[in-house]
Amino acid sequence: MKGRLALFNTMSGRKEPFLPRDPPHVKMFVCGPTVQSQAHLGHARTYIFYDALARYLGYLGYDVFYLMNITDIDETITRAARKAGEDPLGYSERMTASFLDDLKLLNVATVTHFEPVSRHVGEMIAQVESLLDRGFAYEAGGWVYYDTTKFRRWGRLSHQSKQDLTLRPLELSPRKRSLNDFALWRPETLVAGRWRSPWGQGSPGWHIQDTAVTIPILGPQYDIHGGAYDLVYPHHEAEIAQGETLTGARPMVRYWVHAGLLHMEGQKMSKSLGNIVAIRDALRFCTADELRFCFLSIHYRKEADLSGFVAARRRLAALRKVAKRFGGPDGGDEQPLARFERALNDDFDSPRALDWVEATLKAAAKAGDQEKAKDLAWSTVRAMRILGVDLLGSS
Ligand SMILES: [Zn+2]
Repeated sequence: MKGRLALFNTMSGRKEPFLPRDPPHVKMFVCGPTVQSQAHLGHARTYIFYDALARYLGYLGYDVFYLMNITDIDETITRAARKAGEDPLGYSERMTASFLDDLKLLNVATVTHFEPVSRHVGEMIAQVESLLDRGFAYEAGGWVYYDTTKFRRWGRLSHQSKQDLTLRPLELSPRKRSLNDFALWRPETLVAGRWRSPWGQGSPGWHIQDTAVTIPILGPQYDIHGGAYDLVYPHHEAEIAQGETLTGARPMVRYWVHAGLLHMEGQKMSKSLGNIVAIRDALRFCTADELRFCFLSIHYRKEADLSGFVAARRRLAALRKVAKRFGGPDGGDEQPLARFERALNDDFDSPRALDWVEATLKAAAKAGDQEKAKDLAWSTVRAMRILGVDLLGSS
């Protein structure tokens, strides 16, 4: 294994050496989108980051199994389908295909397996039953809630004290025993005729959709769980409560790796705020490489915006010019990428890795010796290919 990677773990609040459970295998799960509409640039930022991380893990010699779920059951989907005059599952199937096309356009190519959650409703019902049997859930008028007072580690991932948590009630309802309890099952029909459960017809809560996919596919414990930072509470906290209660194995996840949000004019890009730019629309005005380069020039944990896009595009064009002048397709000698690796091993510091690429190409342009210039330029081409950007490409 090359170098030593450290990643910031939201659970501990520090950078930790990356030690997967069963090297060289790495099991990674990232929350996929809710497919109620076309994917937007906020999704692009998140999925480009995990793609670059998975590529880099592969470069380091790890064998990554990358699982992404697709939330294809949700009220927002049922509402959108109704508006479009379509069946909700047909609608979400169409939107899932559109999302997968978007990922292809973005050159996000590392996901080993996509899993639509609607295939796992039987497993969700079984998990809810098991939580009830274990005394960690209760039924209330067709609803089933997780009893968060029973789970001692509730609030640990989001670093909230009991007092903090009282200020953040979830899903207000008089049926709930405590403010932080969340729904595992709801008596709402999202798809006509579906789904039958011991608590009557209804649909699964959001959080149970993840453990119903991860436990059968990845097992009770896995290495990396990703998603945008706004999923930490309550979504990921709820996954831990469900998963660790169901399997008894802990920690369910070794490294909680969260990506910063994308902002538009100071606000999070989200459907509910109406400030979204669809990936498809953005790619009419820029290329996937330009977008990826722009996002990589911001640290993945920082909040991002697009104010630096024009500068990033210009910088990529300038780097390409030098790389093409010296880096030719026949390549030079393999130079070590030590400084590039050092930057990425330090909690995936891609801005610092790009600075090394720029400095190296500057050195190539100044080198009197053609062979030396070629070797330097070629090392930057190889380095950027690891992150999914082709410096010899034109788009
Ligand atoms: Zn999720």
